[in-house]
Amino acid sequence: MKLSGWGRWPVVDCRLAHYRGDSDLRGLIDRSPTLIARGNGRAYGDAAVNPELTVSMLGAGRILAFDEQTGLLTCEAGALLDDILQACVPRGWFPPVVPGTRFVTVGGLIAADVHGKNHHRDGTFGAHVESLTLATADGEVRECSRDANAELLRATIGGMGLTGVILSATFRLQRMDTAYVTQEVLPAADLDAAMALFEESRDWPYSVAWIDALARGRSLGRGLVLRGRPLERGALPPRLARNPRHVANRGPLTVPFEAPAALLNRLSIGVFNALYSGLGRARGAPRPVHYAPFFFPLDGLGAWNRLYGRKGFVQYQCVLPRRESRGIGALLARVAAARPGCALAVLKLLGPRRAGMLSFPMEGYTLALDFPLRDGTLELLDALDAITHEHGGRVYLAKDACSAPERVRSGYPEWDAFLAVRAETAGAAPRFASGLSRRLAL
Ligand SMILES: Cc1cc2nc3c(=O)[nH]c(=O)nc-3n(C[C@H](O)[C@H](O)[C@H](O)COP(=O)(O)OP(=O)(O)OC[C@H]3O[C@@H](n4cnc5c(N)ncnc54)[C@H](O)[C@@H]3O)c2cc1C
Repeated sequence: MKLSGWGRWPVVDCRLAHYRGDSDLRGLIDRSPTLIARGNGRAYGDAAVNPELTVSMLGAGRILAFDEQTGLLTCEAGALLDDILQACVPRGWFPPVVPGTRFVTVGGLIAADVHGKNHHRDGTFGAHVESLTLATADGEVRECSRDANAELLRATIGGMGLTGVILSATFRLQRMDTAYVTQEVLPAADLDAAMALFEESRDWPYSVAWIDALARGRSLGRGLVLRGRPLERGALPPRLARNPRHVANRGPLTVPFEAPAALLNRLSIGVFNALYSGLGRARGAPRPVHYAPFFFPLDGLGAWNRLYGRKGFVQYQCVLPRRESRGIGALLARVAAARPGCALAVLKLLGPRRAGMLSFPMEGYTLALDFPLRDGTLELLDALDAITHEHGGRVYLAKDACSAPERVRSGYPEWDAFLAVRAETAGAAPRFASGLSRRLAL
């Protein structure tokens, strides 16, 4: 079966198996020379593909326990974030960290140690995991927590599926009185202004910026900074107060065709303009926004990855340490000068907290950029990679599809520690492997 990540590149012919219980999985692990677990395929590159065996964990989707007093939830690893939202929002609870899509599994959230708009305050998803069970290469199922197998837990959080298959996890939700966030949209004339707004918004739980990646010169880095706080019931306008914990519909619109590449520039520029002018109209005045459009604006478009055409696309996401923030300007200038460029960039100030050995965040600014795959795209990504490396940054493994191994490795100080912990359960020849791990010799 042909499999890829969300970027639809690279496409790999894989043997695909579906999770059908722990003992069946054990047989698969024992019999296959190598394998990798797959969640909902939302990592952009080749992290969840292995030609020898890829095991879809979507069949392990049950919520096993939820304590409404403490917010402690236990579920199987293939449970979708959206299922957790459906169960918890009506009860006044919300996941501690969410990425930009609700169609990811808990296994994927842990394996990529995902960050959200609240990273500067609450850290990564892994920081809220109390324990997990992991099927390892030596035939064991290990319970990992901060008291038992703590190093294996740190290797598994952010470990991109390479320590074993996560079977279940227990993590803590946060109280959220309503399904709404109060949102403010602030225009930033350039990159310095955007960064100043992030600094000024440090006590807001959520912040993110949409940057116009086509702007150059004095307008380089211009965009809109969005910040938000959960809304209390008493602050809701009457029309929303009637159903304060309204849950988002599951069925998004879909993109039923592959857009011809020529349409793409117009489309993506159009998306940016629509967002820019739509959000721009909402400037200044705080307004209540439902959690779905606030946290997951692209989910409303369904399979929008098909908009990039048959060849697919890549997302480049890096983080630079705070003292090197000017490097973000260098990255944006390089992108603005490139043809074809990228219309939309997402900027976010991250805090220092990370829960795993290979977790992505560091204190500083992270920039995410989408590029259709065309002649010159890989060369451009290589140039961006060189800038990231020069500024002491790192690229995000969950987005990567083509970065140079030496540069990636040098961005992760605990790379060797990770390999050592994995070797304790897997021996010298790792059983869990993916396109990503082979490419990066991980
Ligand atoms: C629109 C969009 C927005 C996004 N926004 C963000 C964001 O804001 N912040 C952020 O951090 N990320 C973001 N991401 C990336 C996404 O959150 C991660 O890639 C996440 O890991 C995807 O989860 P998944 O279930 O689809 O996993 P997959 O893509 O299927 O797999 C991802 C990795 O997890 C491993 N894995 C999955 N299940 C298991 C398991 N049971 N046991 C062991 N390993 C497992 C796989 O081996 C693979 O290495 C975004 C992605 C999209 C498409």
